[in-house]
Parts: sequence; C-alpha cells; structure tokens
Amino acid sequence: MDAWLSPTCRNLLAHMSDYLDETLDAAQEARIQQHLATCAYCRAMVETTRITIVLYRAAPMVAMPREVHARLVRALALEQPAKR
Ligand SMILES: [Zn+2]
Repeated sequence: MDAWLSPTCRNLLAHMSDYLDETLDAAQEARIQQHLATCAYCRAMVETTRITIVLYRAAPMVAMPREVHARLVRALALEQPAKR
C-alpha cells in the first residue's frame, strides 16, 4: 500500500468497502466520518468509489466478444505458474 498515506488513511481504505456497504459498527463509522471531514484525499477516494459502484450497477451487462474472451483465457493460462 502507498507508504505516504497516514495510518488513518490506510485504515480508512482498508474499511472503505464495509463503510460504503454500511456494515461497520457505529463507532467505526463515526471514526471514518470524522476522518473524512478533515482529509480531502480520503473524501475523493470514497466519493470516486461510491460513484463507480453506482455507475457499474446502472450499466447494462455486455457480453464479452468471443475473440476478447479467447485472448483473456490464453493470457491467464500463460500467467499460471507451472505447479503440480
Ligand atoms: Zn485520509
């Protein structure tokens, strides 16, 4: 993770998806909101992620073209370490 981030920023990023899913307990959520009030970087990260999720959910599903799928499968096969 980025070394220049403060421990508070790193903690926020680690819990961001739970924060956006609203699954944190009240104390954790309050800590995050307190940090967001003072940290423009984390506010931008949270808002960008929130908007990305909204856009992703609103986007229609598009089937992957057959050629792209075939290239993806080949690329993933090449990345597999030769184990066993
Ligand atoms: Zn921050």
